[in-house]
Amino acid sequence: MHKQIMENEENKKIAELLFPDIHETLEDLEAAYPPRNLPEGATVTRFAPSPTGFLHIGTIANALIAERVAHTSQGIFILRIEDTDKKREIKGGIDEIIHNIESFNISPDEGVMSEEVQKGAYGPYLQSQRLKIYAIAAKYLVSQGLAYPCFCTDEDLKEIRNVQISQKVKPGYYGQFAKHRDISLIQIQQEFSQGKPFAIRIKSDAKVNEKIQFKDMVKGSLTMAANDVDFVLLKSDGYATYHFAHPIDDHFMHITHILRADEWLPSTPLHLQIFRYFGWNAPYYAHVSPVLKMDGLSKRKLSKRKDPEAGVKYYTQEGYSSESVITYLLNLANSNFEDWRRTHPDLPYSDFPFRIEKINNSGALFDLRKMQDISKQVMAQMSSQQMYDMYLTWAEKYDPEFAELIKKQKEYTLQIFSIEKDQQARRKDIYAWNQMHEYIGCFYDELFEKLPFNKQLFPEFLSGEEIKDIINAYLQVIDLKKPSDQWFNDLKAIAAKFNIAPDTKTFKESPAGTYKGYVGDIASILRVAITKRKNTPDLYEIMKVMGIERVVKRLQETKDLL
Ligand code: GLU
Repeated sequence: MHKQIMENEENKKIAELLFPDIHETLEDLEAAYPPRNLPEGATVTRFAPSPTGFLHIGTIANALIAERVAHTSQGIFILRIEDTDKKREIKGGIDEIIHNIESFNISPDEGVMSEEVQKGAYGPYLQSQRLKIYAIAAKYLVSQGLAYPCFCTDEDLKEIRNVQISQKVKPGYYGQFAKHRDISLIQIQQEFSQGKPFAIRIKSDAKVNEKIQFKDMVKGSLTMAANDVDFVLLKSDGYATYHFAHPIDDHFMHITHILRADEWLPSTPLHLQIFRYFGWNAPYYAHVSPVLKMDGLSKRKLSKRKDPEAGVKYYTQEGYSSESVITYLLNLANSNFEDWRRTHPDLPYSDFPFRIEKINNSGALFDLRKMQDISKQVMAQMSSQQMYDMYLTWAEKYDPEFAELIKKQKEYTLQIFSIEKDQQARRKDIYAWNQMHEYIGCFYDELFEKLPFNKQLFPEFLSGEEIKDIINAYLQVIDLKKPSDQWFNDLKAIAAKFNIAPDTKTFKESPAGTYKGYVGDIASILRVAITKRKNTPDLYEIMKVMGIERVVKRLQETKDLL
């Protein structure tokens, strides 16, 4: 007993010696960050990226998951920037993260709002500004004998490692290899007098082969080896390691659910140990598997090096609408989203009851084709005004000349975007804005003129002269004020004159050689003449949008090219 009291006294002295400038206690922190006043069942989640530049689409998926979990429960979603690894940080990295998540409509309620602005009463939300909080917490652990200073140099650590290699034992700073685990006050004073830098390490209490059990909301009940390594909590430069910062931040920010990439699963026993050392209840953990991709017959992680679609930039540059990306990512995260979307086409995605328990525990398979299909549906649902606004924003950055053109001809462009919008089954051709220029370019005279004229696109069974005659026949009756069925009757009448069947059925059912083709070939001629393309949306709608003058001019000009 006496020994225990002596030890306690010594630990307190060590803590004072190591942290002479820290006078606040954990209680002060508890008072500064009181429990949140939220409705029953509200969750508090966070997205906690490090500003290292590259943003993986899987990271955005995790941010979206955290945001959805918070907001479907009337909770709070926080953006915390984990910038304690100054070596990996890149300039502008924070703004890049904020800009990206905002562009996908993932908006934090609290946290880092820009490089300069933070919002909320539980900050600071930049880990590099929380060093004092970590020092208070580290001082507490040292004073309790649960952490200690380590004066090992890189050389010392290398030496320990070599011994472990020669003994064929697990590498790491633990047990009998943990040189400073039982360092005394006097030894510390000696190291201090030589001005040696120190780190703070956790003093693990794990027994040999000890296991811990915990429940992960995605992975289920897990049994893992308890942490027996005396990991660094505070580095010699005063920065906390991720392992130490995470439990402290999540505790004082009152995070209820930790949604994070499952690369952190192996260190969860350490994190739970830290929560236990402080006497805190750990939040719920939900470890999300990485997004996978089929490579031949096997699955692998969507890779930053191999797959352009792994980076968020890809979607911005190609011009996927944020709604398309969100819809696809929700699909990946909760596979029942697709059914819900089908049955609730008009509700915002925020009405979807997102469930952590439904997250695929073995990793969702990313499929760009599927994403494109989903995106086509999303874009087909947009109004022409929405399309115009979104496309213009994209084009101003990635296709400025075309952006100028559509700005100058705004009304015309809106009409182009409205083609086939009134119909039940809307046309689904476009999945990304970078397809738009080619898709609608032919509507604009200045671009149409530059498109190559390809005679091969006309029905091959008709000679140039016959095509000219058909165009002439149409020019004699052209009238775009007629309803579409009457307009089509005009085409049928022309077909009859040229020995072409009025419909496919008649064409197919007649003996071979009766007809040269069917009325669709007449439409084809007009289509190629006015768009220089073989496939387009509804021809009649196109003609109406282009207007009679333009259509006549293009038909006349085509004759000269035949
Ligand atoms: N800063 C960590 C990362 O960039 C965050 C892990 C977490 O969400 O706890 O992966």
